[in-house]
Amino acid sequence: MFTGGEGELTLTVMMRVSPEPEQEEAILDLLRRYRDALNYSIRAIIANKALSLSRAHRLLYKDLKERYGLPSKIAQGCYREAITTAKSWLRNPRRGAVPTAKGLSMWLEHEKGYRVKGNYVELIGGYRLRIIGWDRRYDDFPSREARLVFRDGEFTLYIYKRVPRPTKYVPKGVLAVDINERQIVVGNTSVEQRIETPIERALHYKRLAERLQGKYSSTRYNAWLRRSGIRRRIRYFRRKARNIIEDWARKASHTIISLAKQSQLAVAREDLTGLVESLRRLPKGHRTALVMLGYRRLAFWVDWQAEKNGVPILVVDPAGTSSTCPRCGSELVEAGHRRLRCPRCGFEADRDTIAILNIEGRALSKMGGTLTSPTAPQVTDVNPNRWGEPPHL
Ligand SMILES: [Zn+2]
Repeated sequence: MFTGGEGELTLTVMMRVSPEPEQEEAILDLLRRYRDALNYSIRAIIANKALSLSRAHRLLYKDLKERYGLPSKIAQGCYREAITTAKSWLRNPRRGAVPTAKGLSMWLEHEKGYRVKGNYVELIGGYRLRIIGWDRRYDDFPSREARLVFRDGEFTLYIYKRVPRPTKYVPKGVLAVDINERQIVVGNTSVEQRIETPIERALHYKRLAERLQGKYSSTRYNAWLRRSGIRRRIRYFRRKARNIIEDWARKASHTIISLAKQSQLAVAREDLTGLVESLRRLPKGHRTALVMLGYRRLAFWVDWQAEKNGVPILVVDPAGTSSTCPRCGSELVEAGHRRLRCPRCGFEADRDTIAILNIEGRALSKMGGTLTSPTAPQVTDVNPNRWGEPPHL
């Protein structure tokens, strides 16, 4: 999602679009033909090792146009996408079956495959989709390739853009982020804020999916029932669980980055590699899987939002952040529920607060005196489940 050369970020702008009613069926038909053509191309490219554009073109172009009825520019986009898919499959040493596209989506090259004109998106071949809404913050930057997706009855166009990477400010201090299963704790020596995680809520949907799956995989139900409606419900619950995590990760990271930017702080988070590894060793449960997903998505969004907003980010070693004294470095001892105390200097605090102070300390020493004078940031206490949409950065 964010690649790009030095000094540039690639981001996607989401545009809700809607076909003219009389064209909806034709566009869906085009998307289906594209999907079938893509699956055909992936297999042909792998079988014939046709991984270059010119070889793929010779092998597929005529078929894609004649058998699948794709407009020429869309046919080119199709084998281009098939090459990318084939290459990444071939690169994967643990590859399973040849990948198959299931959803309805289509690559479009800018100007050749699609064009934004007034309130419409025009696709090659005379299709028009009305623009319902989009994020206008990046209007000034040129559009690049795009992907048209049909999902849950809605059409969305994801347009890729390159924008200059903002320069990072010199931080006045550190905002540490500590994550555990129940909450994220954000803070430093002067402030602290807690945000609940949605693991329980997501787990609820995941369990619903499993229950349905268990019930209808029994042979008492006929094949039709097992295949159709129930399958769709199961997929819906699974996707719902994933979406809950994704939404939360995006909003929480937005809150974190806004707080940091507002007070010109660097964001420090723990390196999650070890954490994810240790979770992987736990018995495989839905909870573990969701917690892992939550960690990874939050780290992803925090890093991305930091890049986009010019917020410096530091990744620190997580070893012992919640068991050593942030004041003197001694090993802490238990002092009640989730509380720890230092036997040497007497410092006592909540486990999560200790983690925050240690992460802050490690980040500060990593920055090594590049700080300007520290100021106490103004952070208001936010109701974790109803923080609302923070202002756009
Ligand atoms: Zn101590």
